[in-house]
Amino acid sequence: MRKSFGSLEVLKGVNLTVDYGKVCCILGPSGSGKSTFLRCMNHLEKIDGGLLRVGGSLVGYREHDGKLYEMRQKEVARQRADIGMVFQGFHLFPHMTVLENIIEAPIGIRKMRKAEAVALAMDLLAKVGLTEKAQAYPATLSGGQQQRVAIARALAMKPKLMLFDEPTSALDPELVGEVLTVMRDLAREGMTMVVVTHEMGFARDVGDRVVFMDGGVVVEEGTPDEVFNHTREQRTRAFLGKVS
Ligand code: ADP
Ligand code: MG
Repeated sequence: MRKSFGSLEVLKGVNLTVDYGKVCCILGPSGSGKSTFLRCMNHLEKIDGGLLRVGGSLVGYREHDGKLYEMRQKEVARQRADIGMVFQGFHLFPHMTVLENIIEAPIGIRKMRKAEAVALAMDLLAKVGLTEKAQAYPATLSGGQQQRVAIARALAMKPKLMLFDEPTSALDPELVGEVLTVMRDLAREGMTMVVVTHEMGFARDVGDRVVFMDGGVVVEEGTPDEVFNHTREQRTRAFLGKVS
């Protein structure tokens, strides 16, 4: 995948395969293109070159007679519904209760009946440990609670793939654990996940693959043991030395 913003080439040919049901953790310094890469994965950004497939289907494009055609907005939106995204800054709708936040897209986009959407939302709130907050507004919740709601909201669309962009970076240290626990459970259940994170413990324990990105390329990729304990590249070693 290649992506530039004007004359700034941000992704200089990033190759990555994430197997079904596996967790891929992406590490790398600020500005290395991690967020851009995730945003390209669900076509929030157009890519300039390369291809992306999720579950065998091209994202954002359709192939016909060996040529690629960009999808219409409506089709892109439908496709994006299969990819859940959780951001650093939660992005809950402030004027809606927790429950309303979670049922909005299943009803609006998936055309789920309200009773069914509510039942699903309550199941998901139980899973993230927030049953008692269903009627609360986001502003009354802690950052860790808001992020768990954001995860429940993404899961309500029954995504095939979940993308996390530094989901714990905006949290007070004592709230990081509760969000990582929810993500660990999700991984254990077999969700396919791409997680940009600075939580080395999480990458080590939960990641099936660890990817180190720098300067718009994948510098090093492997199992956690390979990347953390048998680091091959000097750039990776320098980064790991600074963060751990
Ligand atoms: P990371 O998430 O690894 O910190 P980003 O993907 O956010 O990196 O950014 C990579 C580079 O792309 C940075 O130099 C950033 O300033 C630039 N960039 C990101 N988004 C845009 C944009 N919409 N327009 C112009 N430059 C951008
Ligand atoms: Mg980023």
